Amino acid sequence: MKIVVLGAGESGVGSAILAKVKGFEVFVSDKSEIKEKYKKELNDYSIEWEEKQHTESRILAADEVIKSPGIPEKAPIIKLLREKGTPIISEIEFAGRYSHSKMICITGSNGKTTTTTLIHHVLTKAGLDASLAGNVGFSLARQVAIDPHDYYVIELSSFQLDGMYDFKADIAILLNITPDHLDRYEYKFQNYIDSKFRIVQNMTENDYFIYWNDDPVIQKELAKRDIRATKCPFALEKKEGLVAYVENELLKIKVKDSEFDMELNKLSLKGQHNVYNSMAAGITSCISGIKKESIRESFSDFRGVEHRLEPVAKVRNVLFVNDSKATNVNSCWYALQCMKTPVVLILGGTDKGNDYTEIEDLVKEKVRAIVCLGVDNAKLHAFFDGKVPAISDALSMKEAVDKCFAYAQKGDTVLLSPCCASFDLFQSYEDRGRQFKEQVRNL
Ligand code: ADP
Repeated sequence: MKIVVLGAGESGVGSAILAKVKGFEVFVSDKSEIKEKYKKELNDYSIEWEEKQHTESRILAADEVIKSPGIPEKAPIIKLLREKGTPIISEIEFAGRYSHSKMICITGSNGKTTTTTLIHHVLTKAGLDASLAGNVGFSLARQVAIDPHDYYVIELSSFQLDGMYDFKADIAILLNITPDHLDRYEYKFQNYIDSKFRIVQNMTENDYFIYWNDDPVIQKELAKRDIRATKCPFALEKKEGLVAYVENELLKIKVKDSEFDMELNKLSLKGQHNVYNSMAAGITSCISGIKKESIRESFSDFRGVEHRLEPVAKVRNVLFVNDSKATNVNSCWYALQCMKTPVVLILGGTDKGNDYTEIEDLVKEKVRAIVCLGVDNAKLHAFFDGKVPAISDALSMKEAVDKCFAYAQKGDTVLLSPCCASFDLFQSYEDRGRQFKEQVRNL
């Protein structure tokens, strides 16, 4: 059987290694340049590869194709494969075929990485052999091939879910659904919702589905779908049927035979959104049999993840916060919502079909000035001009930080929470966040 892997990043190279280890004939093709370290690995495993091109004849000869999540459906090579009827799957689908380990899968529009890393932190601190996979850490396929673990805590994007058919999660978490990546879903929100709900496919009564009960989109879908997994809804306010909620400033969980509570002010992660993330992580930990004391300890010493509401420094009493990972409007809403001071806000980048109405009220209430950091800021101006006291443009991070510092008054917060992807001016959101921190330190 011939396997072709499209895209040679972490997931592609991991898939190729697993396919090779399992005895398949493998060919890797990447339209861009492949990183040196991955080329070396492919060579070490005697896997054939090509870069900066897709040789159609070789790719169309595949019996099955493993597609990297970054490659869109509209790519010409994918269209050709679809016409031919070649099965196209994701790395997680492929890896899942060769593992009996416990799969804890996390998806949602926002909060995936935070929740995934928090669960991993709790499980490993409690002594379980748990490893990160999916969008964080090493690919699942690579680990299944050469470094297997008992538990995988897997962050799943909708793009990975799109290529999943027979994979089954033991625990699935759906944090929330708000419009994102619509450019990849024919601008149809329902397509994106359907993709997210693939996380529960194949689950049985012995598996657990953890979700945010107050999400209107999730609620509407639940009414339409027949989900067999044991449901574990959580929300802020106590209500019949919830397995986690907040009461008297205590986060409370009751699931399986386990009960847990913890003072909200002892959670190391701050903000309402992180209460949700902690609930999802807490339910997972209880189901996995982790002791209450151990969960409490891990919840209080978790350090958070870089680029997510990360405090950078205070300069002349102005606090700078790096939330570069806020690549959609909803995550910026949560960032603004937990701000307790006037805000100078950096927005902008590559717009994925944003509707800024969601943050309009919070912007009017809290934002002193907006600095638009992007190649094309027309949409931001069309929406925000006249709604904030000041708005201006910047074409580099240095210019943006300097302008923000000039706008800010003592006690303000300068917040980089851009609502957009970073690719117009930066290599990635990490690059954008790092440049922000560097420029703040240069002030
Ligand atoms: P993801 O991996 O889904 O992109 P992250 O954990 O990296 O999520 O967080 C991305 C952004 O979303 C951050 O800016 C963070 O402040 C915000 N965020 C985190 N958790 C939530 C949540 N449960 N709901 C809404 N926004 C959130």
